[in-house]
Amino acid sequence: MKVELHNIVAECPSCHGTDFEPHGVRGEAIASQTPMVCARCGAHSSYIALLIQIGDKAIARSTETLERIRAQRAKLKKPEPQGK
Ligand SMILES: [Zn+2]
Repeated sequence: MKVELHNIVAECPSCHGTDFEPHGVRGEAIASQTPMVCARCGAHSSYIALLIQIGDKAIARSTETLERIRAQRAKLKKPEPQGK
């Protein structure tokens, strides 16, 4: 299963795979401390760690968006008249 939030997918820290299996519980019973096993390389993580990773990505993404908006705005801004 993919761990996804706001169109951001969590990646395995070892192999960057995006397919995880909850360890010991069914998909609908996942809690924050549920161990998640990477389907590709078998690395263990926890559900909360994957959600935190998504949070970090979301922050990075919104920072990028902000910078893009600022750059766009600076481009649109007319040059200030020189002198007074
Ligand atoms: Zn992996």
